[in-house]
Amino acid sequence: MTDCLFCKIVSGDVPAEIVRESERAVAFRDINPQAPTHVLVIPREHHPNAAALAAADPASLAAVVNLAQEVAVDEDVAGKGYRIVFNTGPEAGQTVFHVHAHVLGGRGLNWPPG
Ligand code: C5P
Repeated sequence: MTDCLFCKIVSGDVPAEIVRESERAVAFRDINPQAPTHVLVIPREHHPNAAALAAADPASLAAVVNLAQEVAVDEDVAGKGYRIVFNTGPEAGQTVFHVHAHVLGGRGLNWPPG
């Protein structure tokens, strides 16, 4: 999608601090981190949200979750615990409509989230 910020990160037209990549997914640091580890994991293909991705390409949704786990291991948060968040829709705080998993860890995370 030509006008999508995260598609431009996948293509390299917008810079990002990429920490891991796989055939189907890319992981990069969030520019406004909310925890010591805050990495976004996105599929290379454009889909607006997690449900749309699951319906159209379930293997890519699995690839996003698998890459999130690899990032958590790299960042040494997998053992203590981390959170995967898919904000879905404006009221949930989604601002970029290319599905992305927030991988958050490295501190105690409150429940329920704000
Ligand atoms: O869930 P939501 O759509 O709000 O998340 C978008 C995320 O993308 C934000 O956490 C924001 O900081 C991040 N972002 C980024 N790099 C950009 C633009 C936004 O990491 N160039």
